[in-house]
Amino acid sequence: MNGGANHTIRFSKSKTLSAAPPVSRQKSFIYSKAYKAQLITFMQKSGNLRGATVNPPAKQAPHRKHLIAVGVLSVLVAATTILTPSGDVAANREDRDDLGMALEADVLAPIVVSEATDTPPVSSALATPAEPVIAALETPPDWQEEIVRRGDNLSLIFKRAGFNSSDVYRVVNEAPEGKALSRIYPGQTIAFLAAEDGSLKAVKHVISPLESVTYQRSEAGFDTEREIRQTDIQETWVSAEITSSLFMAGQDAGLSSGLIIELANIFGGVIDFVQDPRKGDTFHVIYEEVLLDGEKYQDGTILAASFTNKGKTFNAFRFEDKDGHVAYYNEEGISMRKAFLLAPVDFTRISSNYNPRRLHPIYKTTRPHRGTDYAAPTGTPVYAAGDGRVIKSGFTRANGNYLFVQHGDRYVTRYLHLHQRKVKQGQRVMQGQVIGSVGSTGAATGPHLHYEFLIDGQHRDPRKVHRELPKAKTLAAAELPAYRSAIADASLQLAGLQEDRRLALRSADSSTPAAP
Ligand SMILES: [Zn+2]
Repeated sequence: MNGGANHTIRFSKSKTLSAAPPVSRQKSFIYSKAYKAQLITFMQKSGNLRGATVNPPAKQAPHRKHLIAVGVLSVLVAATTILTPSGDVAANREDRDDLGMALEADVLAPIVVSEATDTPPVSSALATPAEPVIAALETPPDWQEEIVRRGDNLSLIFKRAGFNSSDVYRVVNEAPEGKALSRIYPGQTIAFLAAEDGSLKAVKHVISPLESVTYQRSEAGFDTEREIRQTDIQETWVSAEITSSLFMAGQDAGLSSGLIIELANIFGGVIDFVQDPRKGDTFHVIYEEVLLDGEKYQDGTILAASFTNKGKTFNAFRFEDKDGHVAYYNEEGISMRKAFLLAPVDFTRISSNYNPRRLHPIYKTTRPHRGTDYAAPTGTPVYAAGDGRVIKSGFTRANGNYLFVQHGDRYVTRYLHLHQRKVKQGQRVMQGQVIGSVGSTGAATGPHLHYEFLIDGQHRDPRKVHRELPKAKTLAAAELPAYRSAIADASLQLAGLQEDRRLALRSADSSTPAAP
């Protein structure tokens, strides 16, 4: 018996990241299928595939009991969360909205505070009036806190706290690096400490949850003390079974929306998350969490994951090659990504596929339908399915706004009925780049993307040819030894989780009385 070990499998590795305040997040990239700049930056910061040394096989024993608990839980959840397809879509949309708001809240628009002007230049990136508040976690009670507002400057803030311009002047000019105090952003906290006679004793600038600077009055003027708080990386894992949708299963297992999308991106080259996931599909994810003072502060990266779809298991491992390129590969070092996205619209936004054999709603004939239609809300981003060049960007009465993209010599993808076109004819595009948005221009009855895939000029069903399409990138033979040793432990760990799951199912089977 492993006395209480079940909940301590979350082995802490106490790795610290360089201070990475959320200020640097770019909300515009988060939905991009392939090039998630923010994520990649973060991956690069947190280094290579890790976890390699933390999980010797002996440590795998405690997984089992926990996993059985998860298995039982997911059966219970199954009984309560089987939803109609439309119910799923609604839930997904809500998730996306939540995610959007959460991301929005992470973005801080810089204000360059200038005392000379009344209207400091404000980044136009944000129009939202509410600013996230960045406060010190433990400011003693006798400190008076002021939140930096849009359009604020130091004099205004000092005035609100009962101090004056000469106090501002003294701190900024007398403290070492005091000028940094004038770089303030909406949502930050400036805390003030007054002496007994009411004069300014100290000012604390909380730059981010990870960084603050205190300017403290001294004999000579003001001293500067910078405090950087360290985050820890903790490795953890979840296992889940799909009972209604990937999103629901991921959420039930405790994955954030961001990690679920990341998981879908990793397997998007082999699994069609619009059509393929089946009830009973399972996945295991080994990932990192960023902790601040022992509490989860941010999502970390997915280190390894497996997805079993209709009985076939795909494993993916994160690896940084010697050029610093981070990607996910299968156990043979073959990229998980294809040269083409399976669907050029995020799977969570797609509400249905049109019936291709329908009567054409406008022409009232059964015209051959040579593409795939994805119904999604107007404005949903449309991604370039692969790297290529825009060979047509135009408008016709039938197609509405449309784009054709050439990929290499053999492949062309077409995108019709767009609300907006965001690329020009002749422009180079990268896989996952937003090239337009879903609309209902041209002969369309409702907002949807009509997507065509041509090989050597022949229309093909992208869903059917997808498995034959080339892979985006495969590790060079010279990288394979390093890759194999980097993934060895994660691979064992995944195998352990998969085996635990099989055992859990088997014991569940044998404990069920046979039907009469
Ligand atoms: Zn169509």
